Amino acid sequence: MKKLLALCGGEKLFDHTQMPDELFHWPIITEEDEQNCLEIIRKNKFSGTDVTLRLQDEFAAWQGTKHALAFTNGTMALSAAMFAVGLGMGDEVICPTKTYWGTVSQAINFGASAVFCNINENLSMDPADIERCISHRTKAIMVVHYFGYPADMDAIMPIARKHGIKVIEDVSHAQGALYKGRKVGTFGDIAAMSMMSWKSFAAGELGMLVTDDQRLYERALAYGHYERNNSKNITDPELAPYPHIALGGVKGRANQLCSTLALGQLKHFDERMAEVDMAMQYFCDGIEGMKGLHPIRPPKGSGSTMGAWYLPQGSYKPSELEGLSSGRFAEAVRQETGGLHCWEGGNFCLHTHEFFKSFDFYNIGKPSRIAFADRDVRELDAACAPSEKMYCVSLPPFKKYLPECIDRYIEAYRAVAENYEQILEKDSALNGGRWYGADNA
Ligand SMILES: *Cc1c(COP(=O)(O)O)cnc(C)c1O
Repeated sequence: MKKLLALCGGEKLFDHTQMPDELFHWPIITEEDEQNCLEIIRKNKFSGTDVTLRLQDEFAAWQGTKHALAFTNGTMALSAAMFAVGLGMGDEVICPTKTYWGTVSQAINFGASAVFCNINENLSMDPADIERCISHRTKAIMVVHYFGYPADMDAIMPIARKHGIKVIEDVSHAQGALYKGRKVGTFGDIAAMSMMSWKSFAAGELGMLVTDDQRLYERALAYGHYERNNSKNITDPELAPYPHIALGGVKGRANQLCSTLALGQLKHFDERMAEVDMAMQYFCDGIEGMKGLHPIRPPKGSGSTMGAWYLPQGSYKPSELEGLSSGRFAEAVRQETGGLHCWEGGNFCLHTHEFFKSFDFYNIGKPSRIAFADRDVRELDAACAPSEKMYCVSLPPFKKYLPECIDRYIEAYRAVAENYEQILEKDSALNGGRWYGADNA
């Protein structure tokens, strides 16, 4: 459809702010959820463990793992997973460069070094780039199911097994997503995830760790759950001499206000996820074949799914639109829709952050990332340049299947792609991403 784009002074197609609230509203909170929260507050049960233990049982059953362990947040759960697999001083941990820093920055707390690996067009860890990153010090691979897209576990696991490396899955974006019919978070040795307010499994501020491995579970428990570090829960002879204290020197226990919220979310998660999936598939079908932007989702019939589609993205190809930047494309969508929060880029590649170049956390006059390493892992960062050119533009995160509303958004994205000549300006600086928390986030 030819039209004068709103970004060039044309009439916008519709007004996003007038759409039904339920189209994007998340998380869904029921009256029962509210009552459960009130009970925690009135009975002062924040710091107990009864509700959290129930959550863990139900979550483990849903996830299909032997153990689930709740934490204050996802960053802490991932730290506990690192402790569980024995990450230590001088070790290396491989991580896709395009992810939120909370996947891997914790390595600094173990004296370990992050080594970054490239992503592919689905913004997912490129298995073909993993072996380049391996050394005799590699202890673990962090696999991120980025923006809900399940990473290629069939390719990743054999590489890890061949080299005797542990696999930690970061499921923060992908609760409930399937990889070839099986839930993500059950492939690696251990998995951890965020359930903070904006994630697709949202329970206030919470983290969860899951594993089938008794030893890893006990180590994760002893790391920050001092109230449960006792002879009843810990059988590992290496941990047994140190009961009643958090071995990580941190407090990882979940707050039960969030545990009760998580129980409420879990109760309805599968049915809500199915509706999100229906809405998102409908939208993606509607923009499929468009120039410039290609929905990121597993092929239909592959048995792989996007879970509840955390911050869905399209893979953006400036070359198909004569170099139009992703930032300019997103801005045009915002204008055309009267304010949809359309944004470009996902997270910036972590290897480009100064934190991973020079920050001296240990205060010993040496960049912490290489403080105890056998090699200057920063020299490997240059090989991740291709990931800086894997662009994306966000898609509307629909929560309700309302086709007549979704059609309007399809129209808006298509209008931008079909009239891109009007807004061409070759400012590649706008092909970016963002540091979460920065002004543009
Ligand atoms: C949100 C997030 C985390 C950190 O979780 P918090 O609950 O915010 O601590 C870790 N990894 C990824 C990929 C995330 O998106």
